[in-house]
Amino acid sequence: MVDRLTIERRSWLMSRVRGKNTSAEIRVRSAVHARGLRFRLHRKELPGCPDIVFPKWRTAIFVHGCFWHRHLGCKKATTPKSNQAFWQDKFERNVARDSANLAALRSNGWHAEIIWECETKSPLALAARLDQIFDNAQVQGDAV
Ligand SMILES: [Zn+2]
Repeated sequence: MVDRLTIERRSWLMSRVRGKNTSAEIRVRSAVHARGLRFRLHRKELPGCPDIVFPKWRTAIFVHGCFWHRHLGCKKATTPKSNQAFWQDKFERNVARDSANLAALRSNGWHAEIIWECETKSPLALAARLDQIFDNAQVQGDAV
């Protein structure tokens, strides 16, 4: 099947999918930092190279873009009109890879969670989402 996307465009797309240090990710990092929690970034030795990792609590957070990672029911998870087969295939592979990474982490005893890009827009909503994740994983701030 001939794909009309050039190689350059395709590799640009790939780099966007794996994008690190996105603004959503930076918003999550600041919110976590404000709580006085210590974390590591992009641990390559863990499945999927999670964006934010709390080794002490075996907790890993992925900050996912709603479009690339297909946030279910989210209005940002649109499908471009052209090259639909290409997009469909790409999206399916992203979703499959994401769920395999979550499963791999969880089966190794990690608390692995996704924070969606759209959940980072409102500081209040983000704080609530972080509370939920930290409660589940029983993450507590280091002694102040
Ligand atoms: Zn979303």
